[in-house]
Amino acid sequence: MAAMTATGARTQYETIIGIEVHAQLRTASKMFCACPTAPPPDAADEPNTRVCPICMGMPGTLPTINRRAVELVMLTGLALDCRVETAAVRFERKNYFYPDLPKGYQISQYALPLTSNGSLEVPVPTEGGSVRIGITRAHLEEDTARLSHAGRGFSVVDFNRAGIPLMEIVTEPDLRSPAQARAYGETLRDILRYIGASNADMEAGSMRIEGNVSLRPMGDDRFGTKVEVKNLNSFRSLERAMEYEVARHAEALERGEPLRQETRGWDEGAGRTIVQRSKEEANDYRYFPEPDLPPLRPSQAWVADLRAQLPELPAARRERYETELGLSAYDAGVLTADVALAAYYDAVVEAGAAPKTAANWVTGEFSRLLNQRAADGLRADGVALAPGGLAELIAAVESGSVSGTNAKAVLGRTFASGESPLAVIEAEGLGQVSDAGLIGREVEAVLAEFTSQVAEYRSGKTQLYGFLVGQVMKRTAGRADARLVNDELRRRLDEGA
Ligand SMILES: [Zn+2]
Repeated sequence: MAAMTATGARTQYETIIGIEVHAQLRTASKMFCACPTAPPPDAADEPNTRVCPICMGMPGTLPTINRRAVELVMLTGLALDCRVETAAVRFERKNYFYPDLPKGYQISQYALPLTSNGSLEVPVPTEGGSVRIGITRAHLEEDTARLSHAGRGFSVVDFNRAGIPLMEIVTEPDLRSPAQARAYGETLRDILRYIGASNADMEAGSMRIEGNVSLRPMGDDRFGTKVEVKNLNSFRSLERAMEYEVARHAEALERGEPLRQETRGWDEGAGRTIVQRSKEEANDYRYFPEPDLPPLRPSQAWVADLRAQLPELPAARRERYETELGLSAYDAGVLTADVALAAYYDAVVEAGAAPKTAANWVTGEFSRLLNQRAADGLRADGVALAPGGLAELIAAVESGSVSGTNAKAVLGRTFASGESPLAVIEAEGLGQVSDAGLIGREVEAVLAEFTSQVAEYRSGKTQLYGFLVGQVMKRTAGRADARLVNDELRRRLDEGA
């Protein structure tokens, strides 16, 4: 970032960004009680229906720790190369008074987080390389209720979200550009989804990002005044908000205007940040150990067991697809962005399909069918057609026993029914006709039927060729081997010319 000084010289600034992510963990029940985290399938999500005396903070109730939530934070820590704490980890009370907090405090971790000191390698395509971002900590806490400001001076509160397990992941101030901030967010989202820790959906609010920005003159090792930006509903907003703040800081520094340490909100429509409040210091929260919960002591065996459960992460998978399977960076990126799609693809290849052909089918027709049903929440692992069935269909196309067009039709049908593609091809008579004698007779019949078109073609109206091919395909119900039809048609048209 450069800005003009009064003398016309340019001061170079270094951008310093740190990111805080809050991700709702994928558990069935809340952090400290048995309330479900989501409404039953097909039921409406009515406000204040998933609450109990514990998550409502009634006197005399006692919290219990959700084991799965602890595991998901440890898994995340392991995926981010963090150290997992096996000494006694205490939960602590973070005290503040606000209508979204039924107890008047949030149970969180402060002095000793469950996991810390990790790092994440983040590819930044727009900068032509990758950066290693230090992960300070990933800890466990509980979500607050949801406040809606209803206008006319009143607000309503929904406690369904209060007490849902929440993970906070904090980076070191290692990011040097808005593009890196965005790339970090996207890379982290992919990992959280891969390990099943969170749906990590920014628009749905299951992943929330705050960016801390400051600028300092290039070469300076002290940090400048830091501003925290909230209300970021997409990775694009994150990048835009960081760009806005970098420009705002540079301008203020050039003019010699003081910057204030504060929290600002991003206004997507206006494309700018707005002051929300001046930053409270950590000790405003009066943290102290939660007396109602025992310290956590994750055993070495538990950590080792979780480490063994870690799936192949997106970066490693992309690398394998490109180097071992010879896929393009684009195909590898599309496949690995969705863990269920990548698993399906792997199974198709395992069933014997050639990697590149399988990638074409899975990112092409298969994904098109999947996207049509995306609104129903269908993922690749919910598709009725087994990966072996798709491999079987691909083999049939490769061997020429079904045409590409008919194979797509067969996929369209078996995708939802789960029938064997070969059985459908057999039953519906969709197999490709490669009988040269039969194709010759059909070509002959078409030439005899469309004499005027044939004459026009021969007098130079070559675009009629496609029409004649279409007639042959029509007579064979699309089953004729297109290569044989072409050979035969060209030969006979040239003969008579
Ligand atoms: Zn509850």
